[in-house]
Amino acid sequence: MSRPIQAIIDHSALVHNLSIVRQYVPHTRIFAVLKADAYGHGLLHTANALKNVDGFALLELDAAITLRTAGYQQPILLLEGFFSTMEIALIEQYQLSTVIHHPEQVSMLTDSQSRKIDIFIKVNTGMNRLGLSPKQLPQVIQKLTNNQQVKNITLMTHFASADDPHEKASVFRQLQCFEVITEKYNYPCSLANSAAIVNYPETHSDWVRPGIMLYGASPLSDKTATDLNLLPVMTLSSKIIAIHDLEAGDKVGYHGLFKADYRMRIGIVACGYADGYPRHVPTGTPVLINNQRGRLLGRVSMDMLAIDLTGIENAKLGDPVVLWGKGMPVEEIATYAETSSYELLCGLAARVDRKFLKSF
Ligand SMILES: *Cc1c(COP(=O)(O)O)cnc(C)c1O
Repeated sequence: MSRPIQAIIDHSALVHNLSIVRQYVPHTRIFAVLKADAYGHGLLHTANALKNVDGFALLELDAAITLRTAGYQQPILLLEGFFSTMEIALIEQYQLSTVIHHPEQVSMLTDSQSRKIDIFIKVNTGMNRLGLSPKQLPQVIQKLTNNQQVKNITLMTHFASADDPHEKASVFRQLQCFEVITEKYNYPCSLANSAAIVNYPETHSDWVRPGIMLYGASPLSDKTATDLNLLPVMTLSSKIIAIHDLEAGDKVGYHGLFKADYRMRIGIVACGYADGYPRHVPTGTPVLINNQRGRLLGRVSMDMLAIDLTGIENAKLGDPVVLWGKGMPVEEIATYAETSSYELLCGLAARVDRKFLKSF
């Protein structure tokens, strides 16, 4: 028998969320972002649900090769590009597309024996993470045009703050920077992540790169997934594996962090920080017990956590508990954990079984 914890991955929610992206960008091609094992959802099943998308984007070369070998024909873009000449050979062999964000990569590519690779030249327009400076760009483009190693060129940038309604000026500064330095070229462009897809139609251009919204979490700080008609894809669920009746003064878990003020009943759930549930959430963090909202108590352990069964009708061993997902937005748990939905989803531990359902 295995532990009752599992992550249910809802195939139909992925299909639905992709259709929402398409409503925002009816005339733009879409890269579904599948990095970090599809944000913790599982690479191949997620790709399968999104198989009609125009392309896939990720950073891990082995995962890109896995996708190509699985038979996907569309462009597969490596978002950080390559780190060695050997990787360039694999990019050519598997017909992957690659970002180029640094002059070192330009030399590596032009010194290589490879031919006809699709490249995405990334420009740093103000985020100061990856990308060539606007000053470096013309030289690099000159080096890479009419060059046997290169097939098609696309220009690309990434926004630092498209999720924050108070940061509009920052997005428009980056957008303007991009437009000024790229207008003299006639290459296709790619700028928008999920937040920019929703908030900034002027950034849609030729290719968009949604990640988080495909997984059904809101990309915006001021709107919920429900506001955007997105459906949660991952539901992390487990079961009550023990029940205890406490007297006033009894304590729960490590360091007795929670102390009962009155007689109460608690449940122990098979889910802990080694499963990817955040350790530092406080007492009061919401959980869904038998479809009723309840609360977590005390310190989350490695493999278990405690919940309050006060007011939960007929709670018994084996009852289902949803930690996040359907009925319990992951963004809400992220707020209690002082982190983002991204971190919770892609932090789901490998030991948690993913169960793929056609619909849920
Ligand atoms: C992760 C990533 C995305 C997707 O971002 P979301 O906010 O999840 O939509 C897009 N572009 C790049 C370069 C990324 O690294």
